[in-house]
Amino acid sequence: MLIVMRRGADPEEIGRVVAVIEEMGYRAQALPGRHRTAIGILGNEGRVDGTRLAQLPGVEDVIHVTRPYKLASRDWHEEPTVVRLPGGVTIGGADVVVMAGPCAVEGERQLMEAAVAVRDAGAAILRAGAFKPRSSPYSFQGLGTEGLALLARVREETGLLIVTEAVDAEGVQAVGEVADIIQVGARNMQNYSLLRTAGRSGRPVLLKRGMSATIEELLLAAEYILAEGNPDVILCERGVRGFDNATRNLFDLGAVPLVHALSHLPIIADPSHGTGRRDMVAAMARAAVAAGADGLLVEVHPDPARARSDGGQSLDPEQFRQLMREARPIADAIGRRIAEPTGVRL
Ligand code: PEP
Ligand code: MN
Repeated sequence: MLIVMRRGADPEEIGRVVAVIEEMGYRAQALPGRHRTAIGILGNEGRVDGTRLAQLPGVEDVIHVTRPYKLASRDWHEEPTVVRLPGGVTIGGADVVVMAGPCAVEGERQLMEAAVAVRDAGAAILRAGAFKPRSSPYSFQGLGTEGLALLARVREETGLLIVTEAVDAEGVQAVGEVADIIQVGARNMQNYSLLRTAGRSGRPVLLKRGMSATIEELLLAAEYILAEGNPDVILCERGVRGFDNATRNLFDLGAVPLVHALSHLPIIADPSHGTGRRDMVAAMARAAVAAGADGLLVEVHPDPARARSDGGQSLDPEQFRQLMREARPIADAIGRRIAEPTGVRL
């Protein structure tokens, strides 16, 4: 960290900053310049809290040189993290992994039809929420544990892996018994007790970007999971609140190469929540693959008009098949491959 002094700061003010740095247990190195002095902090491991220094007389600015997250950063871990799932499915390597299915588990028939449709089109992982975090308490909240039991049965019958959401720390264990990947939703990205519990779950975690979260906040949320000893974190760009409500969210595809530059963690893209419009999903899925996303999360419903949540952004099975046909050559063009469903009995 660098403390930049104001122009004309006197030696007494500089001495006071040095003394406080030393009091904090670090070493200080004054770097006098032509117009002003900067003071470097040495001997710190990790980020220094600069708030006390920023308030001292004569201080103009406090500049952080190291990133606030360490475990999630590429600075400390150059190789990409590859999350290994049952059946040999990997996320973060050459494969682009498609997770598809309805927003919510609504019943056995709906879930089974969706699962067979997405598997036949080439998705490797079935997504569906048993617990739904809804903006309104009056909206359908999901089937809960009954939904989890249906997911377990469909996993068994189709050989598809499962990603499903845990909405609170108390629910992590039950979700982890069924899910191959535990989803932490956008509304919960900064629910720190949930993040910590997911970090101790022994299951990979799909962490969705909060709707007003910066990339730094997303990576700090991942840091909570990593710090509990769970290395298997998959990030997800699902759009952020923009100024224009023409689409449900502002789908920030720049997040994909940016996260790849800053972090070793894989990042997938969710064009369904990212746009909120069925007619835009395929175009943005193609763009996400081209941008280097390590996977896609796509809402698919056997009958979107009857969906109990997010029907307006859900594809029907034929639209999803078409999306998969279009995504494959794009993955090929950048030296990647859409992962095939393994169909193994698990
Ligand atoms: C979902 O995946 O259905 C969901 C609720 O997503 P998000 O948390 O991104 O809103
Ligand atoms: Mn949804």
